[in-house]
Amino acid sequence: MPESGVNTRGSTVGNGSHGCDCDVLVLGGGPAGATAAAVLAQMGRSVLVVERERFPRYKVGESLLPYCYFPLERIGMIEKMRESSFVKKFSVQFASMDGRVSTPFYFHQHFDHPAAQTWQVERGEFDRMMLENATEKGARVLMGATAKRLLLDDGRCNGLLVEQDGEIFPLRAPVTIDCGGRHGFAATQMGWIVPDPHLNKVAIWTYYRGARRDSGYDEGATTVAYLPDKGWFWYIPLANDTVSLGVVAERDYLYRDGKDLDAILKREIQANRWIADHLEPGRPCEPTRVTAEYSYRSRYCAGDGLVLAGDAFTFLDPVFSSGVLLALTSGEQAAHAVDAALTAGDVSAARFETYGADFCRGLEAMRKLVYAFYDEGFSFGDLLKRHPRLRGALTDCLIGNLSEDFGPLFKAVEEFARVPPPLLYGGASIEDSEAAALSNT
Ligand SMILES: Cc1cc2nc3c(=O)[nH]c(=O)nc-3n(C[C@H](O)[C@H](O)[C@H](O)COP(=O)(O)OP(=O)(O)OC[C@H]3O[C@@H](n4cnc5c(N)ncnc54)[C@H](O)[C@@H]3O)c2cc1C
Repeated sequence: MPESGVNTRGSTVGNGSHGCDCDVLVLGGGPAGATAAAVLAQMGRSVLVVERERFPRYKVGESLLPYCYFPLERIGMIEKMRESSFVKKFSVQFASMDGRVSTPFYFHQHFDHPAAQTWQVERGEFDRMMLENATEKGARVLMGATAKRLLLDDGRCNGLLVEQDGEIFPLRAPVTIDCGGRHGFAATQMGWIVPDPHLNKVAIWTYYRGARRDSGYDEGATTVAYLPDKGWFWYIPLANDTVSLGVVAERDYLYRDGKDLDAILKREIQANRWIADHLEPGRPCEPTRVTAEYSYRSRYCAGDGLVLAGDAFTFLDPVFSSGVLLALTSGEQAAHAVDAALTAGDVSAARFETYGADFCRGLEAMRKLVYAFYDEGFSFGDLLKRHPRLRGALTDCLIGNLSEDFGPLFKAVEEFARVPPPLLYGGASIEDSEAAALSNT
């Protein structure tokens, strides 16, 4: 990161008593935090991002969806993306175990807009660019600073207790946005984490160099390749002749012969012919990594003086590469809600009820599609054979256009798979009486 606006220690971040002369504290400088910080800074708010790591740092989650275009455009990132060396992505395709590949979903066939081409990003570099962009807009960043806990005063959040270089100090601001990612920093402290037991999978992944790529438009395609019992591979071509490769499946399936991650990956690669063929000329070039138990939603999106965005609010199984899109859109929407609350001089939880409701509406569409994907009775091919007219709606969901009415699509999906009802939580943490008053207005 360049030094401009990036503080290694609090000179512009307060004074001897470690105050914080800012309107908003943003916990975490990933895609959600960098977006929220950039939007708020563009609106003239003074923002301080507290980031534990020093960028660039490693992160999984490389495949973007076309609708990432709009929040990226909002914060002035599109030109920077075009000038980058990130691989261009035009489509997603599905490969069966015997190696047959579905007709790719080419985004431009459905969507005549520059957004129809998106990117496969190396996250260390993408996240660095995003945070640098936020500092160019005027946000300040405190790197290598770990938030230890929320500062609460009678249930109202008024900042963070932060540790940097062995020193612990408070930072205070009228609003804190938790964009700290999948550990659910605020949601854990507040006791708001609600796991999704149906999406309790394990992911094991690594990177290959020199593996096979398809040609032309298909070179940057994401391939989702099937395994038994609804397990699946992601195959994501990145720059520098590197491919991100991961397997997601039930714990019992993956660990049936033991817990050696390399052995599991090797065994599963042989179970899908398309994956085995494409990896054949390549070699692993990174350690194998694993994560488990990962889908959840916080019971609330906000409390008094506190808003949650990105993975810190909710994490959904990555089968449709929706994580970064959800981080960008929630970061942008949270920033707007916070700006309006600051203008009104009221940062109580009720102010963020609409933010939670709007965001969860789009999220529910993606969640339904994820549930359908894992249902034994569901396949995209069968759905489109019976309902060819729904190809447009399905592609809309797959590209991240989540504002549509997907009623007809999910009515048809229900013929094949269980579609879950919307979760009844994810709104703001307000008293029942306040909620009732709000719903009557
Ligand atoms: C196996 C797997 C595969 C995935 N594949 C994809 C994919 O292909 N496409 C896609 O779009 N998404 C994918 N995702 C999801 C994607 O990684 C996340 O949704 C995305 O990174 C969320 O962004 P964020 O800004 O909310 O959080 P993060 O990117 O996690 O950023 C959070 C930041 O907060 C910082 N932080 C955390 N705690 C603290 C603290 N206490 N103090 C200070 N700073 C802190 C962290 O250092 C980090 O920089 C995948 C996820 C997994 C697990």
